[in-house]
Amino acid sequence: MSMKRKVAILGATGAVGQRYIQLLQEHPWFEISVLAASERSAGKKFKDACNWVMETDLPREIAEMQVANVDVASVEKAGDVDLVFSSLPGDLAGPVEAEFAAIYPVFSKASAHRMEKDVPLIIPEINPDHVELIKIQQRLRGWKGFISTDPNCSTIQMAITLKPLMQFDLRQVMVSTMQALSGAGYPGVPSLDIIDNVVPFISGEEDKMETEALKILGTYEGGAIRYADFKVSASCNRVNVKDGHLESIFVKLDQEPPLEQIEAAFEDFRGAPQLLKLPSAPAQPIIVRREKNRPQPRYDRDLGNGMSVVVGRIRTDSIMTFKYMCLGHNTVRGAAGGGILSAELYVVNGLA
Ligand code: NAP
Repeated sequence: MSMKRKVAILGATGAVGQRYIQLLQEHPWFEISVLAASERSAGKKFKDACNWVMETDLPREIAEMQVANVDVASVEKAGDVDLVFSSLPGDLAGPVEAEFAAIYPVFSKASAHRMEKDVPLIIPEINPDHVELIKIQQRLRGWKGFISTDPNCSTIQMAITLKPLMQFDLRQVMVSTMQALSGAGYPGVPSLDIIDNVVPFISGEEDKMETEALKILGTYEGGAIRYADFKVSASCNRVNVKDGHLESIFVKLDQEPPLEQIEAAFEDFRGAPQLLKLPSAPAQPIIVRREKNRPQPRYDRDLGNGMSVVVGRIRTDSIMTFKYMCLGHNTVRGAAGGGILSAELYVVNGLA
């Protein structure tokens, strides 16, 4: 690839926006050209607008960039743009992403457009063929650009593990989550609400897990997505962990393969990003830990540079067929890393 594509990040000061900035340093295909956020931040230097909470230092040239407003005119005034990463709050993302998509490819982490019929909901390992939907979207909406969405963070890691189980005729999924604080953005959950505590409610999360997974794992037929025909029941909790969602998953399969076959199905699973050797692809999308007390967020969330999903405690179940624990880094695989991987998939398909 000769010239790097110039990218704008909408919501650059937030938990996901910061992760985009961190992961795009030294990216072979993309370079950051515009950082945009709310009126509170616009016009300020990034270092004055943002409370940087990444583990690595704020890159010096990023610190000095001036933050733009999240509208096309302000972004274009701030720099050249080839594509847009959006990590805006859901309510705002609806109209703002549409404004940008009229002109640019938009890769969105927000929920606003995810379930629209002509909008792809992509996990590159699972449904790379769904990118074709953007051609229909562009025709219907008269856009030069498009919107491609990434699923909710808890859904991404679960869906990646469900994909290799579908060969055994997956029928039902029950999942209970223990979700990290960074999933609520920055500053997110007030400390006095979560220290010494677990909050058994995350607004909208259960509904997203129950519906998005069926679209992602559905099939692209005749210009539309036919939803997968298993059922998901989710119960979501916020826990006092910085990064990394842990999920307890129970699956009902029509077949009853031996445990070793389930383990092998997880470990051997590969998708388009691995075959295409996309820059952000983990070598192994699913890593199986065999220790009796893993995966754990603090020790396992960074495996595969935070892009691998880690499973463990795979065992048979007396009511469902199998149960296992599943861990994913919510702001890497579940957000910015997943968004970048999606954009890479569109680039190799000649669509962005
Ligand atoms: P966040 O930390 O609260 O950041 C929100 C960003 O949006 C900030 O840059 C903020 O700018 C900007 N913003 C807020 N109100 C705005 C307005 N009125 N106009 C323009 N910009 C505005 O949230 P986040 O966790 O990064 O999440 C961003 C999106 O990604 C959300 O839709 C979320 O649901 C989704 N998501 C998050 C995760 C995760 O793990 N955190 C995972 C998957 C998806 P200021 O700093 O100027 O206010």
